[in-house]
Amino acid sequence: MINIRNLKLEELNDILIKAGYQRFRAKQIFNWLKLGRVADFDLMTNLPADLRKYLKQTFVLNSVKLERLLKSSCGSATKMLCRLLDGNLIEAVIMKYKYGFSVCVSTQVGCRMGCAFCVSGMHGFVRNLDAAEILEQVLLAREFAGERIGHVVLMGVGEPLDNFDNVVRFVELISSTEGLNIGQRNLSLSTSGVVDKIYQLMDLKMQITLSISLHATNDSLRNRLMPINRRWNLSQLLEACKEYFRATRRRISFEYIMLNQVNDSMVFAEELKRLLCGFAAHVNLIPANCGRGDFKSSDPKVIKAFQKRLEDLGLNVTVRRKLGDDVNAACGQMRSSCVK
Ligand code: SAH
Ligand code: SF4
Repeated sequence: MINIRNLKLEELNDILIKAGYQRFRAKQIFNWLKLGRVADFDLMTNLPADLRKYLKQTFVLNSVKLERLLKSSCGSATKMLCRLLDGNLIEAVIMKYKYGFSVCVSTQVGCRMGCAFCVSGMHGFVRNLDAAEILEQVLLAREFAGERIGHVVLMGVGEPLDNFDNVVRFVELISSTEGLNIGQRNLSLSTSGVVDKIYQLMDLKMQITLSISLHATNDSLRNRLMPINRRWNLSQLLEACKEYFRATRRRISFEYIMLNQVNDSMVFAEELKRLLCGFAAHVNLIPANCGRGDFKSSDPKVIKAFQKRLEDLGLNVTVRRKLGDDVNAACGQMRSSCVK
Protein backbone atom coordinates (compact mmCIF):
# COMPACT_ATOMS: atom_id res chain seq x y z
CA MET A 1 0.00 0.00 0.00
CA ILE A 2 1.30 3.46 -0.78
CA ASN A 3 1.24 6.43 1.53
CA ILE A 4 -1.54 8.80 0.54
CA ARG A 5 0.84 11.75 0.90
CA ASN A 6 2.65 10.60 -2.24
CA LEU A 7 -0.32 11.65 -4.32
CA LYS A 8 -1.01 15.00 -5.91
CA LEU A 9 -4.51 16.40 -5.54
CA GLU A 10 -5.52 15.55 -9.09
CA GLU A 11 -4.19 12.00 -8.73
CA LEU A 12 -6.19 11.42 -5.56
CA ASN A 13 -9.17 12.97 -7.26
CA ASP A 14 -8.95 10.51 -10.17
CA ILE A 15 -8.63 7.54 -7.84
CA LEU A 16 -11.60 8.61 -5.71
CA ILE A 17 -13.80 9.35 -8.69
CA LYS A 18 -13.01 5.91 -10.17
CA ALA A 19 -13.92 4.40 -6.81
CA GLY A 20 -17.28 6.18 -6.95
CA TYR A 21 -16.70 9.10 -4.58
CA GLN A 22 -17.54 12.73 -5.22
CA ARG A 23 -15.11 15.20 -6.69
CA PHE A 24 -14.77 17.46 -3.62
CA ARG A 25 -13.65 14.61 -1.35
CA ALA A 26 -10.00 14.74 -2.47
CA LYS A 27 -9.83 18.43 -1.51
CA GLN A 28 -11.34 17.67 1.88
CA ILE A 29 -8.70 15.01 2.47
CA PHE A 30 -5.94 17.37 1.37
CA ASN A 31 -7.18 19.93 3.87
CA TRP A 32 -6.64 17.35 6.59
CA LEU A 33 -3.24 16.35 5.28
CA LYS A 34 -1.90 19.87 5.24
CA LEU A 35 -2.91 20.42 8.86
CA GLY A 36 -0.16 18.01 9.81
CA ARG A 37 0.04 14.40 10.74
CA VAL A 38 -3.32 12.84 11.47
CA ALA A 39 -3.20 9.65 13.52
CA ASP A 40 -6.02 7.84 11.72
CA PHE A 41 -8.33 8.28 8.73
CA ASP A 42 -11.20 7.95 11.23
CA LEU A 43 -10.26 11.34 12.65
CA MET A 44 -11.20 12.94 9.33
CA THR A 45 -14.67 13.42 10.69
CA ASN A 46 -16.16 15.31 7.77
CA LEU A 47 -15.70 12.24 5.53
CA PRO A 48 -18.41 9.59 5.35
CA ALA A 49 -17.68 6.31 7.13
CA ASP A 50 -17.53 4.27 3.92
CA LEU A 51 -14.89 6.60 2.44
CA ARG A 52 -12.82 6.43 5.62
CA LYS A 53 -13.00 2.65 5.43
CA TYR A 54 -11.98 2.73 1.76
CA LEU A 55 -9.04 5.00 2.56
CA LYS A 56 -7.89 2.72 5.36
CA GLN A 57 -7.99 -0.28 3.08
CA THR A 58 -6.23 1.52 0.25
CA PHE A 59 -3.61 3.86 1.71
CA VAL A 60 -1.03 4.22 4.44
CA LEU A 61 -1.42 7.48 6.35
CA ASN A 62 1.79 7.74 8.39
CA SER A 63 5.06 6.04 7.58
CA VAL A 64 7.61 7.93 9.67
CA LYS A 65 7.68 7.65 13.44
CA LEU A 66 9.82 9.74 15.75
CA GLU A 67 12.17 7.41 17.58
CA ARG A 68 14.46 9.78 19.41
CA LEU A 69 15.19 13.48 19.72
CA LEU A 70 18.65 14.82 20.44
CA LYS A 71 19.00 18.48 21.30
CA SER A 72 22.29 20.30 21.02
CA SER A 73 23.49 22.04 24.15
CA CYS A 74 23.25 25.46 22.49
CA GLY A 75 19.63 24.67 21.65
CA SER A 76 19.97 25.68 18.02
CA ALA A 77 19.92 22.20 16.48
CA THR A 78 17.79 19.18 17.21
CA LYS A 79 18.23 15.89 15.51
CA MET A 80 15.27 13.60 14.96
CA LEU A 81 15.96 9.92 14.54
CA CYS A 82 12.96 8.40 12.78
CA ARG A 83 11.79 4.85 12.18
CA LEU A 84 10.22 3.88 8.87
CA LEU A 85 7.53 1.24 8.49
CA ASP A 86 10.04 -1.35 7.28
CA GLY A 87 12.19 -0.75 10.38
CA ASN A 88 14.85 1.38 8.66
CA LEU A 89 16.12 4.47 10.43
CA ILE A 90 16.48 7.92 8.94
CA GLU A 91 17.32 11.28 10.40
CA ALA A 92 16.47 14.92 9.99
CA VAL A 93 17.91 17.98 11.70
CA ILE A 94 15.88 20.98 12.81
CA MET A 95 17.84 24.19 12.98
CA LYS A 96 16.76 27.45 14.55
CA TYR A 97 18.03 30.56 12.87
CA LYS A 98 17.28 34.20 13.51
CA TYR A 99 14.73 34.17 10.71
CA GLY A 100 12.97 30.97 11.76
CA PHE A 101 13.20 27.22 11.52
CA SER A 102 14.91 25.24 8.84
CA VAL A 103 14.88 21.47 8.51
CA CYS A 104 17.44 19.27 6.83
CA VAL A 105 15.85 16.08 5.52
CA SER A 106 17.14 12.73 4.31
CA THR A 107 16.28 11.44 0.86
CA GLN A 108 17.61 7.87 1.03
CA VAL A 109 18.40 5.21 3.58
CA GLY A 110 22.18 5.21 3.20
CA CYS A 111 23.94 6.47 0.11
CA ARG A 112 25.76 4.78 -2.73
CA MET A 113 28.14 7.62 -3.54
CA GLY A 114 30.81 6.57 -1.04
CA CYS A 115 32.46 9.94 -0.34
CA ALA A 116 35.59 9.39 1.70
CA PHE A 117 34.71 11.80 4.53
CA CYS A 118 31.00 11.01 4.91
CA VAL A 119 29.37 8.56 7.26
CA SER A 120 26.10 8.43 5.30
CA GLY A 121 27.49 6.05 2.76
CA MET A 122 29.49 4.00 5.22
CA HIS A 123 26.86 1.29 5.51
CA GLY A 124 26.11 1.40 1.81
CA PHE A 125 22.80 2.08 0.17
CA VAL A 126 19.59 0.51 1.42
CA ARG A 127 16.74 2.18 -0.44
CA ASN A 128 15.19 5.37 -1.72
CA LEU A 129 12.67 7.26 0.38
CA ASP A 130 9.37 8.00 -1.28
CA ALA A 131 8.05 11.56 -1.43
CA ALA A 132 5.77 11.02 1.56
CA GLU A 133 8.64 9.81 3.73
CA ILE A 134 10.57 12.97 2.90
CA LEU A 135 7.49 15.14 3.49
CA GLU A 136 6.72 13.56 6.84
CA GLN A 137 10.14 14.59 8.14
CA VAL A 138 9.08 18.19 7.53
CA LEU A 139 5.76 17.60 9.28
CA LEU A 140 7.50 16.08 12.27
CA ALA A 141 9.86 19.05 12.40
CA ARG A 142 6.91 21.41 12.26
CA GLU A 143 5.26 19.62 15.17
CA PHE A 144 8.45 19.90 17.12
CA ALA A 145 9.07 23.56 16.28
CA GLY A 146 5.46 24.48 16.93
CA GLU A 147 5.54 26.89 14.04
CA ARG A 148 5.92 27.13 10.32
CA ILE A 149 9.10 25.74 8.80
CA GLY A 150 10.71 28.46 6.70
CA HIS A 151 13.33 26.49 4.82
CA VAL A 152 13.82 22.89 3.83
CA VAL A 153 17.22 21.64 2.77
CA LEU A 154 17.73 18.30 1.06
CA MET A 155 21.07 17.74 2.72
CA GLY A 156 20.50 14.87 5.08
CA VAL A 157 21.44 11.30 4.36
CA GLY A 158 21.44 10.29 0.71
CA GLU A 159 22.04 11.77 -2.71
CA PRO A 160 18.80 13.53 -3.74
CA LEU A 161 19.54 13.32 -7.47
CA ASP A 162 20.04 9.58 -7.17
CA ASN A 163 16.37 9.48 -6.09
CA PHE A 164 15.25 11.91 -8.74
CA ASP A 165 11.57 11.11 -9.28
CA ASN A 166 10.67 10.95 -5.61
CA VAL A 167 12.61 14.11 -4.81
CA VAL A 168 10.98 16.05 -7.64
CA ARG A 169 7.58 14.82 -6.51
CA PHE A 170 8.42 15.92 -2.97
CA VAL A 171 9.33 19.41 -4.21
CA GLU A 172 6.11 19.64 -6.20
CA LEU A 173 4.01 18.44 -3.27
CA ILE A 174 5.54 20.62 -0.58
CA SER A 175 5.46 23.75 -2.71
CA SER A 176 1.91 23.30 -3.97
CA THR A 177 -0.78 25.63 -2.64
CA GLU A 178 -2.90 22.68 -1.59
CA GLY A 179 0.14 21.22 0.20
CA LEU A 180 2.39 22.92 2.76
CA ASN A 181 2.85 25.81 0.35
CA ILE A 182 6.55 26.29 1.09
CA GLY A 183 7.90 28.35 -1.82
CA GLN A 184 10.50 26.66 -4.00
CA ARG A 185 12.90 29.50 -3.29
CA ASN A 186 12.90 28.27 0.29
CA LEU A 187 14.03 24.81 -0.73
CA SER A 188 17.68 23.84 -1.30
CA LEU A 189 18.94 20.67 -2.89
CA SER A 190 22.52 19.59 -2.37
CA THR A 191 24.20 17.19 -4.77
CA SER A 192 27.58 15.54 -5.03
CA GLY A 193 27.38 16.17 -8.78
CA VAL A 194 25.11 13.74 -10.60
CA VAL A 195 25.53 15.61 -13.86
CA ASP A 196 22.89 13.94 -16.04
CA LYS A 197 20.28 14.64 -13.37
CA ILE A 198 21.36 18.28 -13.02
CA TYR A 199 20.38 18.66 -16.69
CA GLN A 200 17.07 16.92 -16.04
CA LEU A 201 16.40 19.17 -13.09
CA MET A 202 17.25 22.19 -15.21
CA ASP A 203 14.60 21.19 -17.74
CA LEU A 204 11.99 21.31 -14.99
CA LYS A 205 12.85 24.97 -14.37
CA MET A 206 12.20 24.79 -10.67
CA GLN A 207 12.98 27.74 -8.45
CA ILE A 208 14.85 25.73 -5.82
CA THR A 209 18.44 26.57 -4.83
CA LEU A 210 20.98 24.11 -6.15
CA SER A 211 24.01 23.45 -3.97
CA ILE A 212 26.99 21.60 -5.32
CA SER A 213 29.22 19.69 -2.92
CA LEU A 214 32.50 20.63 -4.53
CA HIS A 215 35.04 19.98 -1.76
CA ALA A 216 38.01 19.83 -4.13
CA THR A 217 39.35 22.07 -6.86
CA ASN A 218 41.16 19.56 -9.06
CA ASP A 219 40.21 16.17 -10.41
CA SER A 220 42.93 14.15 -8.73
CA LEU A 221 41.88 15.27 -5.23
CA ARG A 222 38.18 15.13 -6.04
CA ASN A 223 38.55 11.62 -7.46
CA ARG A 224 40.02 10.60 -4.15
CA LEU A 225 37.40 12.30 -1.98
CA MET A 226 34.31 11.76 -4.10
CA PRO A 227 34.14 8.71 -6.36
CA ILE A 228 31.38 10.32 -8.44
CA ASN A 229 34.08 12.58 -9.89
CA ARG A 230 35.40 9.58 -11.84
CA ARG A 231 32.06 9.39 -13.61
CA TRP A 232 31.64 13.15 -14.18
CA ASN A 233 34.73 15.25 -13.69
CA LEU A 234 34.98 18.85 -12.54
CA SER A 235 34.81 20.39 -15.97
CA GLN A 236 31.66 18.40 -16.83
CA LEU A 237 30.14 19.32 -13.49
CA LEU A 238 30.88 23.02 -13.87
CA GLU A 239 29.62 23.06 -17.44
CA ALA A 240 26.33 21.61 -16.15
CA CYS A 241 26.23 24.29 -13.46
CA LYS A 242 26.74 27.04 -16.04
CA GLU A 243 23.94 25.65 -18.17
CA TYR A 244 21.74 25.33 -15.12
CA PHE A 245 22.32 28.95 -14.22
CA ARG A 246 21.69 30.08 -17.78
CA ALA A 247 18.38 28.24 -17.88
CA THR A 248 17.06 29.04 -14.42
CA ARG A 249 18.86 32.29 -13.47
CA ARG A 250 19.17 30.81 -9.99
CA ARG A 251 22.50 31.43 -8.31
CA ILE A 252 24.31 28.22 -7.44
CA SER A 253 25.84 27.60 -4.07
CA PHE A 254 29.11 25.65 -3.82
CA GLU A 255 29.79 23.74 -0.64
CA TYR A 256 33.41 23.27 0.38
CA ILE A 257 34.23 21.17 3.45
CA MET A 258 37.36 22.40 5.16
CA LEU A 259 39.50 19.33 5.70
CA ASN A 260 42.68 19.83 7.65
CA GLN A 261 45.75 19.57 5.39
CA VAL A 262 43.72 18.08 2.58
CA ASN A 263 42.08 20.97 0.76
CA ASP A 264 42.64 23.98 3.01
CA SER A 265 45.88 25.56 1.81
CA MET A 266 45.88 28.89 -0.03
CA VAL A 267 46.74 27.14 -3.29
CA PHE A 268 43.25 25.66 -3.22
CA ALA A 269 41.69 29.06 -2.65
CA GLU A 270 43.35 30.28 -5.87
CA GLU A 271 42.24 27.14 -7.71
CA LEU A 272 38.71 27.61 -6.46
CA LYS A 273 38.64 31.14 -7.74
CA ARG A 274 39.86 29.99 -11.19
CA LEU A 275 37.25 27.24 -11.25
CA LEU A 276 34.36 29.53 -10.38
CA CYS A 277 35.46 32.38 -12.59
CA GLY A 278 32.47 33.85 -14.38
CA PHE A 279 29.93 32.25 -12.08
CA ALA A 280 27.23 34.00 -10.11
CA ALA A 281 28.29 31.69 -7.34
CA HIS A 282 28.21 31.59 -3.63
CA VAL A 283 30.78 29.56 -1.69
CA ASN A 284 29.83 28.03 1.63
CA LEU A 285 32.77 26.80 3.68
CA ILE A 286 31.81 23.93 5.97
CA PRO A 287 33.89 23.08 9.02
CA ALA A 288 34.10 19.28 8.77
CA ASN A 289 32.31 17.21 11.35
CA CYS A 290 34.19 14.20 12.49
CA GLY A 291 33.07 11.86 9.80
CA ARG A 292 34.59 8.89 8.16
CA GLY A 293 38.28 8.09 7.94
CA ASP A 294 41.02 10.20 9.49
CA PHE A 295 39.70 13.51 8.25
CA LYS A 296 39.76 16.43 10.63
CA SER A 297 38.28 19.85 10.33
CA SER A 298 40.62 22.71 9.51
CA ASP A 299 41.46 25.01 12.35
CA PRO A 300 39.02 27.94 12.65
CA LYS A 301 41.92 30.32 11.97
CA VAL A 302 42.72 28.51 8.74
CA ILE A 303 39.05 28.65 7.74
CA LYS A 304 38.99 32.39 8.38
CA ALA A 305 42.13 32.95 6.36
CA PHE A 306 40.77 30.81 3.52
CA GLN A 307 37.54 32.80 3.56
CA LYS A 308 39.45 36.08 3.51
CA ARG A 309 41.59 34.96 0.57
CA LEU A 310 38.51 33.95 -1.41
CA GLU A 311 36.84 37.25 -0.62
CA ASP A 312 39.93 39.13 -1.70
CA LEU A 313 39.75 37.18 -4.93
CA GLY A 314 36.22 38.49 -5.37
CA LEU A 315 34.11 35.53 -4.35
CA ASN A 316 31.00 35.66 -2.23
CA VAL A 317 31.76 33.46 0.79
CA THR A 318 30.08 32.37 4.00
CA VAL A 319 31.22 29.96 6.68
CA ARG A 320 28.56 27.58 7.88
CA ARG A 321 27.81 27.99 11.53
CA LYS A 322 28.71 24.81 13.32
CA LEU A 323 25.38 23.61 14.57
CA GLY A 324 24.96 20.88 17.07
CA ASP A 325 28.25 19.09 16.96
CA ASP A 326 27.24 17.49 20.23
CA VAL A 327 24.19 15.91 18.61
CA ASN A 328 26.18 14.55 15.71
CA ALA A 329 24.44 16.94 13.40
CA ALA A 330 26.52 15.85 10.43
CA CYS A 331 24.53 13.78 8.05
CA GLY A 332 24.32 10.14 8.86
CA GLN A 333 26.11 10.26 12.15
CA MET A 334 23.24 9.52 14.48
CA ARG A 335 21.86 6.80 12.28
CA SER A 336 25.32 5.39 11.92
CA SER A 337 25.70 5.06 15.68
CA CYS A 338 22.40 3.16 15.80
CA VAL A 339 22.73 0.86 12.79
CA LYS A 340 24.53 -2.30 13.63
N1 SAH B 1 24.45 13.80 -1.04
C1 SAH B 1 24.29 15.19 -1.10
C2 SAH B 1 23.48 15.75 0.04
C3 SAH B 1 23.70 15.15 1.37
S1 SAH B 1 25.27 15.41 2.09
C4 SAH B 1 25.62 15.88 -1.20
O1 SAH B 1 26.64 15.22 -1.07
O2 SAH B 1 25.64 17.06 -1.47
C5 SAH B 1 25.07 17.08 2.68
C6 SAH B 1 26.37 17.82 2.85
O3 SAH B 1 27.09 17.32 3.99
C7 SAH B 1 27.29 17.70 1.65
O4 SAH B 1 27.83 18.95 1.30
C8 SAH B 1 28.35 16.77 2.19
O5 SAH B 1 29.53 16.87 1.48
C9 SAH B 1 28.45 17.21 3.64
N2 SAH B 1 29.17 16.30 4.53
C10 SAH B 1 29.31 14.96 4.43
N3 SAH B 1 30.12 14.50 5.41
C11 SAH B 1 30.51 15.57 6.14
C12 SAH B 1 31.37 15.75 7.26
N4 SAH B 1 31.98 14.73 7.84
N5 SAH B 1 31.53 17.01 7.73
C13 SAH B 1 30.91 18.06 7.15
N6 SAH B 1 30.09 17.95 6.08
C14 SAH B 1 29.90 16.72 5.57
FE1 SF4 C 1 26.33 10.53 -0.18
FE2 SF4 C 1 26.44 13.19 0.02
FE3 SF4 C 1 27.57 11.65 1.87
FE4 SF4 C 1 28.66 11.77 -0.56
S1 SF4 C 1 28.46 13.45 0.92
S2 SF4 C 1 28.32 9.88 0.63
S3 SF4 C 1 26.85 11.94 -1.81
S4 SF4 C 1 25.42 11.79 1.42
